[in-house]
Amino acid sequence: MTVRDTSTAAVQPLGDATPVDAMRDVMNIVMVGHVDHGKSTLVGRLINDIGAMPEGKVEALRAVCKSRGMPFEWGFLMDALQGERDQGVTIDAAHIRFATERRDYAIIDAPGHREFLKNMVTGAASAEAAVLLIDVAEGVREQTRRHAYLLHLLGVHQVAVAISKMDLVDFAQPRFDEVAAECRDYLAAIGIEATAFIPVAARDGDNVVDGSQRMDWYRGPTVVGALDEFDAAPSPVERPLRLPLQAVYRFDDRRILAGRIDTGRLAVGDELLFSPSNKTARVATIENWNGPALSEASAGQSVGITLDEQIFVERGEVASHVEDPPLETNVFRAHLFWLGAKPLVQGQRYKLKLNTTEVPVEVQEIERVIDTRDLGTSEADRVERNGVAEVVLRSPALLPLDEFATNPRGGRFVLVDGYQIAGGGIINMEGYPDQRSLITVMGTNLTEVEHRVPLEARITRNGHRGGVLWFTGLSGSGKSTLAIEVEHRLFRKGYQTYVLDGDNVRAGLNANLGFSPDDRAENIRRVGEVAALFSDAGFIVISAFISPYRADRARAREAAEAYEVGRFHEVYISADLKTCEDRDPKGLYKRARAGEIADFTGVSAPYEPPDAADLEVATEGESVAQSAQHIIDYIERHFVLDPRGAT
Ligand code: GDP
Repeated sequence: MTVRDTSTAAVQPLGDATPVDAMRDVMNIVMVGHVDHGKSTLVGRLINDIGAMPEGKVEALRAVCKSRGMPFEWGFLMDALQGERDQGVTIDAAHIRFATERRDYAIIDAPGHREFLKNMVTGAASAEAAVLLIDVAEGVREQTRRHAYLLHLLGVHQVAVAISKMDLVDFAQPRFDEVAAECRDYLAAIGIEATAFIPVAARDGDNVVDGSQRMDWYRGPTVVGALDEFDAAPSPVERPLRLPLQAVYRFDDRRILAGRIDTGRLAVGDELLFSPSNKTARVATIENWNGPALSEASAGQSVGITLDEQIFVERGEVASHVEDPPLETNVFRAHLFWLGAKPLVQGQRYKLKLNTTEVPVEVQEIERVIDTRDLGTSEADRVERNGVAEVVLRSPALLPLDEFATNPRGGRFVLVDGYQIAGGGIINMEGYPDQRSLITVMGTNLTEVEHRVPLEARITRNGHRGGVLWFTGLSGSGKSTLAIEVEHRLFRKGYQTYVLDGDNVRAGLNANLGFSPDDRAENIRRVGEVAALFSDAGFIVISAFISPYRADRARAREAAEAYEVGRFHEVYISADLKTCEDRDPKGLYKRARAGEIADFTGVSAPYEPPDAADLEVATEGESVAQSAQHIIDYIERHFVLDPRGAT
């Protein structure tokens, strides 16, 4: 079993000389600071002095510089090495590795990397610690502040400050103290206490790996010494279990839930809680694609699990243990770093990516925009590129999430504007309750009602069971016509019955929903819940919605069958597309073909027919009366204690 985080497995060693041991822990560090303050030089010198530079590289580049009459720069060397790696598989894997006796290090996002900010913000690169570099002659500058703020924002609180180019001030302590004090003040204001302030002359190697002969007034660690003093982050395996589901596969009658364990561990027999659906089941097996089944698995491993009960859960849910679940909420506060070319605007919608979920969110409020230069805050209704803000985001559905402070992996998210990653941030729930407890309270109340009026009493009084007849089919297949006809006939026979259709639901309950894919899914979800309630009140509910996706219909079945198994009947009202299009009762096909209606089922959006409908009614070549009669016959077979005579 491996307990290592695979995200570091892609790290490339820098040349053969790097004594990197595959089984040791790796600490990800990041070098930040104002442009030209000497980051590349520091990294180049560090790699060289620690003995991790590929052999001959330095000599070769010195020779090139000499022949061109240019001074040698450690930065050129880093650029050259970077260029070589960039031609490899992926830029994101372009980490520089080196080792000390204490541990292995990966310097993520080498200085000058174009994607630096984006990778930091999106979590493509996540650092445990940082070296903040400041040119002693220049002191704290704009990017010094911005980058330091970013460290704060991303929760990188282990920071060593290297004050470099000490040769420019003759290695004098007073100027060093001045810059250190200025930096200390800024860091203190954002809640960072640097572990060390190190006077460095990176170009010459003073206090990088080896101490300096030229600054005997300094008694602290070298840069590498300061790295070794950092604490390693707790292993993700030791954190509470989080397994975001990537996919649910069906094999035979088994459902396999697949995903990568983000943190923690799980074992066969563990009781899992799925959020946000709040369902629980035990792990029956842990499948292993390449070998015999496992008895346990832990952070970093991709697994497929089966459960002891068939519960309906889908991609985007997060499995945890019952004792230590994520929070559930549809509104949360975030510290956000904006990278988008277009500003972030209050009231605007963006796509939120969190774990394996993608959901629309609205920027409910921009609480304050922070000027990283002086940490001044201002009110604004937009955040410009490279701006930092505290915002409140709201999604239509409940999301399982963690605060960044408790879970640095699950507590960060990315915002997408159109198709571009436009920002990222970390979650802070201050002022917002965990809504999971509210759901549980509501569930308890419903159960009490059940106890007072038993199901059987309703069935006996009505003379029939309650249940849901879920009509699905293309527009024009005959759903509404048949629903109205069947309702009419049932009512005349004295049955409790009611039709749910688009008009009576969209006008009220779902008035806040539009026709985007997410809103359509939510529309169907609510109809499923309402139908389930009606069925529990004893009604034969007929719903007439296209409901093109199997997953949505499965969810409606789940809602009804949560009350009683067998209460949901999927009725496929079938007719081929051509027939439906010829009928075109509302003229919608014509408009869709003319491009006036986007995402029209059957024309420009898919229809997934039922795998195994409880009843299929083929309406081609049948009269409405004939089709309705098939449905009445079905109802009398399945719902009725004592069928009543035909009228
Ligand atoms: P970066 O933009 O932060 O990566 O900065 P570089 O590492 O490219 O350095 C910018 C300039 O500062 C280069 O011309 C370096 O030679 C110079 N430099 C870096 N470190 C030192 C140093 O310790 N002393 C002096 N005098 N110059 C340095």
